[in-house]
Amino acid sequence: DRLVAADETFEDEDTDASLRPQTLDAFVGQAQARQNLRIFIEAAKSRGEALDHVLFAGPPGLGKTTLAQIVSRELGVNFRATSGPVIAKAGDLAALLTNLEERDVLFIDEIHRLNPAVEEILYPAMEDFQLDLIIGEGPAARSVRIDLAKFTLVGATTRSGLLTTPLRDRFGIPIRLDFYTEEELELIVRRGARVLGIAIADDGAREIARRARGTPRVAGRLLKRVRDFASVDGNGGIDRKIADRALAELEVDARGLDAMDRRYLSTIALNFGGGPVGIETIAAALSEPRDAIEEIIEPFLIQQGFIQRTPRGRLLTPHAFRHLGLAAPSEFAP
Ligand code: ADP
Repeated sequence: DRLVAADETFEDEDTDASLRPQTLDAFVGQAQARQNLRIFIEAAKSRGEALDHVLFAGPPGLGKTTLAQIVSRELGVNFRATSGPVIAKAGDLAALLTNLEERDVLFIDEIHRLNPAVEEILYPAMEDFQLDLIIGEGPAARSVRIDLAKFTLVGATTRSGLLTTPLRDRFGIPIRLDFYTEEELELIVRRGARVLGIAIADDGAREIARRARGTPRVAGRLLKRVRDFASVDGNGGIDRKIADRALAELEVDARGLDAMDRRYLSTIALNFGGGPVGIETIAAALSEPRDAIEEIIEPFLIQQGFIQRTPRGRLLTPHAFRHLGLAAPSEFAP
């Protein structure tokens, strides 16, 4: 499957864990987010209170889970993690909530995919630290109220637009993560190489950083794949030449786009005259789920100016035609 797919499916858990920075200071990039978090964490600690609920939003692989873990470590509390689709019933969430200790962090990944019945019981839990449960069925049913420890909910979402308003409104600290700059990714690649014991030249780190789709997870994954090439074909060290050869072999182009990105762009260019074309039509043409296209492929292509989202659908930019080596139809001329 996609090498640069920023989803969890192909996660190499061991390396992923060792590559995770452990403190706010060791976390590269997202300066504004880190600065705000530092202040809110200090304030909560000095008052001895639970930190307000935090929502991290942004494309996959930008560090939402990592930051959630760092928040709990900096607060000096327990970290409990789950994910939206995993919590099937209200009772599952109730079990999690009643096991929390004062000021603990409960991390819910993909929180936009919570089942509505589960979401309902999250509202009073977040707001008043109370759980309203219905016990039993029919005439014998009764409602009980349980007090919870004052905890911090840290939610992560790749699609903040899909969050319901009542849920979104209950996060006192909403934080949006952006794609990383090349310089930041270069630091992340160099740090990763150090952790994994890989010799890497500056120009090698820069080449991987340039082609990592603005995403630390992709940078880590490319680093490991390039290392494989370096140990088979070279002397084990990574320089620009080896990185370039390996990335070309992996079909990651000079701008960091992979085969799937290019398939997406060329489908719009060749089948739909550059657009505008609706997302459902693109999904059908690519035989890919719409969600994956919107969450994984499009954010980076939009950020890089390859496509625009318009009310009538996706529209390629002249820049995208140039990148594909195609002549843009005349109406696209700048
Ligand atoms: P998300 O939860 O947003 O999908 P993760 O927190 O799981 O992303 O991060 C994916 C990978 O990228 C992890 O291996 C993590 O260590 C690494 N990573 C993310 N952000 C950074 C960063 N700022 N500095 C270094 N590594 C990072």
